[in-house]
Amino acid sequence: MAQRYYIVGNWKMNGMRTALPEARAIDRAAQRLPKVEVAVAPPVTLIAAMREAVENIGIGAQTCHSAEKGAHTGDLSAAMLRESGVEFVIVGHSERRADHGETDAMVKARAEAVQAAGMGVIVCVGESEAQRDAGEAEQVVARQLAASLPGSADRLSVAYEPVWAIGTGRVPSIEDIAAMHKRLRSALAQAYGEAGAAVRILYGGSVNGNNAADLLSVAEVGGALVGGASLTADAFVPILAAA
Ligand code: PGA
Repeated sequence: MAQRYYIVGNWKMNGMRTALPEARAIDRAAQRLPKVEVAVAPPVTLIAAMREAVENIGIGAQTCHSAEKGAHTGDLSAAMLRESGVEFVIVGHSERRADHGETDAMVKARAEAVQAAGMGVIVCVGESEAQRDAGEAEQVVARQLAASLPGSADRLSVAYEPVWAIGTGRVPSIEDIAAMHKRLRSALAQAYGEAGAAVRILYGGSVNGNNAADLLSVAEVGGALVGGASLTADAFVPILAAA
């Protein structure tokens, strides 16, 4: 059976309580689009209020620590996030890797902590522009994925997000996306055997209402991780409608 597309909005460090009407409007649209699984990862400060405001979309967090508790000022454990009302966590986003020094090993440990807390996890990977230009994109991303993947495929999704496509309005060619997703699918089969086939591989990086239909039609693209265009219902709903 074909899986539903999984379209996830990553709000990053955007959104105060004044953004809740946008979440409600996204939620109403999701109710009319049962063939799409819709989710939003707001800043942690909005999780509880968003939980009250929506019924049809999933709510996630944007990172978490791998430890259960302890001396980690400013960090949050997977169990804390779960208690706050989320059902999935994004780990290894390139902004976390670049701004907070998250390594592949840390991403793997965090993904395993999220799974152990009974939540879904989205593991992000992607090459830099220099790596793409050097013709190394596929090798780099396959290596990054192998080192970042948790031990189990339980409730796992992978997001392929070329760093140079995030927030830039630039996207790889359809051929390059198809080649990368094919490569990632075989890496997942290698890592998990048959269970790897159920892992959804999302594309992320400058997805918008105009390019979503083309991007989602690529083989092995099972959804999208959307940043800027997920912040308002006007921008996000056309992406959901394209799925
Ligand atoms: P963008 O961000 O859609 O604004 O390019 C995607 C992401 O960083 O997940």
